[in-house]
Amino acid sequence: MRNPVQDYLEQIVEQCGAAGGEVAAYIPELAAADPDRFALCLATVDGQVYEVGQAEHRFSIQSISKPFTYALGLHDQGVETVARKVDVEPSGDAFNEISLAPGSGRPKNPMINAGAITATSLVAGDDEDDRFGRALDWFGAFAGRELEVDEGVYGSELATAHRNRAIAHMLREFEILEDDPEEVLRRYVRQCSIAVDTRDLALMAATLANGGRQPRTGRQLLEAHLVEHVLSVMTTCGMYDAAGDWVSAVGMPAKSGVSGGIIGVLPGQVGVAVFSPRLDAHGNSARGVALFERMSRDMEMHLMHVS
Ligand code: GLU
Repeated sequence: MRNPVQDYLEQIVEQCGAAGGEVAAYIPELAAADPDRFALCLATVDGQVYEVGQAEHRFSIQSISKPFTYALGLHDQGVETVARKVDVEPSGDAFNEISLAPGSGRPKNPMINAGAITATSLVAGDDEDDRFGRALDWFGAFAGRELEVDEGVYGSELATAHRNRAIAHMLREFEILEDDPEEVLRRYVRQCSIAVDTRDLALMAATLANGGRQPRTGRQLLEAHLVEHVLSVMTTCGMYDAAGDWVSAVGMPAKSGVSGGIIGVLPGQVGVAVFSPRLDAHGNSARGVALFERMSRDMEMHLMHVS
């Protein structure tokens, strides 16, 4: 028997067809992506997964890593220590703006690069390999399978990471980073280069929707009270400088990345992920945004919705 959720997803994918936009080109390896690849996955908190399109096509996670690294920083260091290093205010600036608070140097939030590089520095471990290994295992635990780095993307991005390198050194100058900024930069770029598929992302989002417990493995990964902190910054800061439009039109915590992914979290219910590499002017997947708007309307997913 056909499943109504599956039917619905197939129908909206057909109706919200190819949107415009261009693939990201500032990381050479991303410019080579096939612009017309597509996948949509929805994972429920009880572990059902629905898929349309190329759900197992892998791509680098890019900025969708940011909420999970922030989560690991909170888990390792606690809310107060993290808050001393990185704020939770929307910046309204582009993701790669060198925007540090005058005087303290504290980045505005962990969803822009300055804040995400800071969150990376807060991951505990004995040395670079141990710290990165913990992050990779953490991401894998959310996805429910072992993940790997796309070394091609890593090399390509590190070789051209002039702006992120500048941000890391500024953060060191302000003593927001306390150790070697190059070590933190390498780990930040490596974690942006972790290869995931759309199904992984939907399950990672569903783990947040499920209060930090992975729906399929049953492992409690992130303390439930910390999930709130992560979802809050995703709501206010997750969609680059289109976060306000997103909250109005879609109304759920989300994060997008330049490789073309978007995750959305409906607390207590589902995690949703879309992959489509053509980006709009804000750097968000154009078809991804259209699909989320549609789903939010049809399924009354907007968190501020009053029926
Ligand atoms: N690694 C990318 C950067 O830092 C991530 C950008 C993104 O997905 O927004 O430039």
